[in-house]
Amino acid sequence: MKLLCSACLLGVNCRYDGKSKPAAEVAAQLKNHDLIPVCPEQLGGLPTPRPPCEIRGGIVISREGHDKTEAFQRGAQEALRLYHLFSCQAAILKSHSPSCGKGLIYDGIFSGNLVSGNGFFAQMLLDEGVAVYTEEDIPWVF
Ligand code: SF4
Repeated sequence: MKLLCSACLLGVNCRYDGKSKPAAEVAAQLKNHDLIPVCPEQLGGLPTPRPPCEIRGGIVISREGHDKTEAFQRGAQEALRLYHLFSCQAAILKSHSPSCGKGLIYDGIFSGNLVSGNGFFAQMLLDEGVAVYTEEDIPWVF
């Protein structure tokens, strides 16, 4: 299968802190598939490293209090474009991220707590009917 994947899960140093979040079990479990790495936040034009952001009331706010919603929306749209361009069949995304998280995301006040919700890109994929998983719930059928 062709699977779109959060680039940071594959070892790309695209996170807000300039690091990655490689998940060895993801790479091992998906080794027989074609993985297309994307980072919606970089595609939205945000720098790396960058201030951490969280979603509060439907708006993306940086820890400094700046509204980054437009960049997050743009990045999600560009990443969605790549999903279709490469004819992907599902997406494996990084949990809890304001772009890639599915089901649970950080609470918007930088407390470290999680609340129900989806990141901007994950929500966009779900709205299109795409099968979205995180590194925490990859089905063993893959
Ligand atoms: Fe990883 Fe997604 Fe955040 Fe990019 S936007 S660093 S791919 S979680």
